[in-house]
Amino acid sequence: AKDQGGGTFNIFSNGTDEYEKKQLMLENDLRNALETEQLIVHYQPVVDLSTGRLKSFEALVRWEHPELGLVPPGEFIPVAERSGLINDIGTRVLESSCRQVRRWHSANEQIGLAVNVSIRQFRNPHFPNLVKDVLEITQFPAHLLILEITESMMQDDSESVRIIEEIRTLGVKLAIDDFGTGYSSLSKLGFLPIDYLKIDRSFITEMLIHAPIQSIIQTIIDMGRNLDMELIAEGIEEEGQSLLLAECGCQFGQGYLFSKPLSAEEIEMTYSLSTLV
Ligand code: C2E
Ligand code: CA
Ligand code: CA
Ligand code: CA
Repeated sequence: AKDQGGGTFNIFSNGTDEYEKKQLMLENDLRNALETEQLIVHYQPVVDLSTGRLKSFEALVRWEHPELGLVPPGEFIPVAERSGLINDIGTRVLESSCRQVRRWHSANEQIGLAVNVSIRQFRNPHFPNLVKDVLEITQFPAHLLILEITESMMQDDSESVRIIEEIRTLGVKLAIDDFGTGYSSLSKLGFLPIDYLKIDRSFITEMLIHAPIQSIIQTIIDMGRNLDMELIAEGIEEEGQSLLLAECGCQFGQGYLFSKPLSAEEIEMTYSLSTLV
């Protein structure tokens, strides 16, 4: 079936509903933003907690709105998902971030790239092929690409399993984002080939305040390690969190303690990653 994109949206059936009107305006603005290159990618470093070394960047989309300024993804991704625009946005983010980090490989060829994938992209039967095409076009090494999906996307229907397996066949890695918030059936973790678990920020925020949270984090880390997955903690803002996480066996982390998401130019200055080959 074709994407029921915003183009087929019936304005009149929704009449005067203010909310619907706003959504529709936002959707039109967003379609325009895509065409006029107002969507840009920021990059947040992921570091090795015990050495402090840079491991990878997570690509995070932003909307440079001509009047509103920088709009965070939380405000337009839901609209993009509802309208189907997320497919085009997602492809754009994947391609431009692969291209960008590929340039940085001339200074450091080990840098990984994590890209968020929405459920609508993931459910698209052509998704694995699309990823393959982007890897070819950008010459990005598959093993350095990590696709971040959420717990709710790993269902054990045959279609999801096929998509996950096709992605893995390309050599691309998979991460479960926001782990611990989705109440997924843990048994799935044992069957699906997942490389990384990203411990949700809510646990990290609470870990120094509520002692029981520490036990939960330790349990997630131990489980991940037993299943041969690597652990990434998100939302690290304090030195104490970083030290304790490293002690608990969590290898990687990201958060404001290390860096906020930065524009490509800012990343180049901070990490001396010249784009001149
Ligand atoms: P996420 O994938 O969980 O990304 C992490 C979010 O936490 C980012 O927010 C990041 O800026 C923020 N963050 C990182 N470190 C810290 C910290 O130490 N403290 C705090 N308070 N926040 C921190 P952002 O960039 O606003 O993105 C929000 C969400 O939007 C993302 O959550 C992701 O679900 C979605 N998103 C972003 N870019 C894309 C994209 O290209 N495609 C899709 N489908 N979703 C995206
Ligand atoms: Ca993410
Ligand atoms: Ca996350
Ligand atoms: Ca999140």
